[in-house]
Amino acid sequence: MKKLALHWQILIGMGAGVLFGVLAASLNWNQFVSDWIKPFGTIFINLLKLIAIPLIVASLIKGIADLQDISKLSKMGTRTIGIYLMTTTIAIILGLILVNIIQPGKWIEPSTQTELMEAYGGDASSRIAQAEAQKGRGPLQPLVDIVPDNIFGAATNNGNMLQVIFFVIFFGIGIILIPADKAKPLREFFDGLNEVVLKMIDIIMLGAPFGVFALLAALVVESPSADLFMALIGYGLCVLIGLGLLIFGFYPLLVKTFTGKNYRFFFNGISPAQLVAFSTSSSAATLPVTMERVEEHLGVDEEVGSFVLPIGATINMDGTSLYQAVAAVFIAQAFGMELTLGTQLGIILTALLASIGSAAVPGAGMVMLVIVLGQAGIPEAGLALIFAVDRPLDMCRTVANVTSDATVSMLVAKSMDKLHDPHVKDWDDFYPKNRLQQTTEVEK
Ligand code: ASP
Repeated sequence: MKKLALHWQILIGMGAGVLFGVLAASLNWNQFVSDWIKPFGTIFINLLKLIAIPLIVASLIKGIADLQDISKLSKMGTRTIGIYLMTTTIAIILGLILVNIIQPGKWIEPSTQTELMEAYGGDASSRIAQAEAQKGRGPLQPLVDIVPDNIFGAATNNGNMLQVIFFVIFFGIGIILIPADKAKPLREFFDGLNEVVLKMIDIIMLGAPFGVFALLAALVVESPSADLFMALIGYGLCVLIGLGLLIFGFYPLLVKTFTGKNYRFFFNGISPAQLVAFSTSSSAATLPVTMERVEEHLGVDEEVGSFVLPIGATINMDGTSLYQAVAAVFIAQAFGMELTLGTQLGIILTALLASIGSAAVPGAGMVMLVIVLGQAGIPEAGLALIFAVDRPLDMCRTVANVTSDATVSMLVAKSMDKLHDPHVKDWDDFYPKNRLQQTTEVEK
């Protein structure tokens, strides 16, 4: 029998977890669930947290070192990265605006918030104490805090991820600047390391159906209030509205304004890549399709497409960054924490960095959310709250990530006078059936 796709397995795990939780609550098995089911959910979250630092190191160093041609292609490079950073920042700000307007976390009763804080925010009180202790420090202290004095020291605490990212970017720049023959073994090493870490995430994701089962069962048993589920729906809607505005409003508008190409042309060209992104939840897996669509159907010159798109798949994740901003604020709201404007501005920076550091694979955005939470002083265990709805949101945010890459490649191509009329105009030409017919005709 064909194996069920992972997202179905996870959905089944989620459904079974909720059912089991409801059953357990009605049979008064709460203690059993806490003792025997919940620990597996905790193990799953720990695995995700465990992989975060190796993931940043491997994927960010590889991403930066891949920019080796930046001197040759410095014009294209600066434009690409500039526009990528711009679209990502806009996505994060949009997410923050939405979550502050809709405030889904506030739909949770204060009593449930306190319960959640007690259940998940174990380390929160010590964090509040830490925050108090920091008050007397100078205004530039956050900047000083980004620069670690010892990389091993920084790497021992997930709350110090910005320090690790600082070191990794610095290291990547070093790799670009040394002679290619000296850099080669390092590049190969980090390529290999990246593969291994991605494989480890694959393996962790195999346990995801069981992990979500345990997490959801524990969630239902521990806080059986309906308001929590309503709040989760509100949170999901916030993310979806934000992604929808990006995919159907912001990107086509950018394309129209800067290249003159209309809505229909853009979606006819890019939609197959969007569908693949939706079903694989991975921009990396979608990359070959994205490149084909952008170069053959949207008219981007191969020289531009082959440079802009692979970099985009690694560092440009608008959907992921929007989701991280919404999720961080939602979790804080759910715990009844007030986030200051300063903290929210900090989230813009960390979500930008965290999305750059997220690998283009399923679930990576949630792993990197740990950084955003850690840096904003929000209990990381709050991940458990949003895990239940993560997969469908991952599918949708990957669509935004891929659409953004395609948009930026069109803008860069236009600015370099490398946007042509597409080779293939007809949507039907995409279908392999027609391709097959064409080949057979040629062969004949
Ligand atoms: N799955 C996303 C992608 O590949 C990354 C994430 O947000 O988890 O683009």
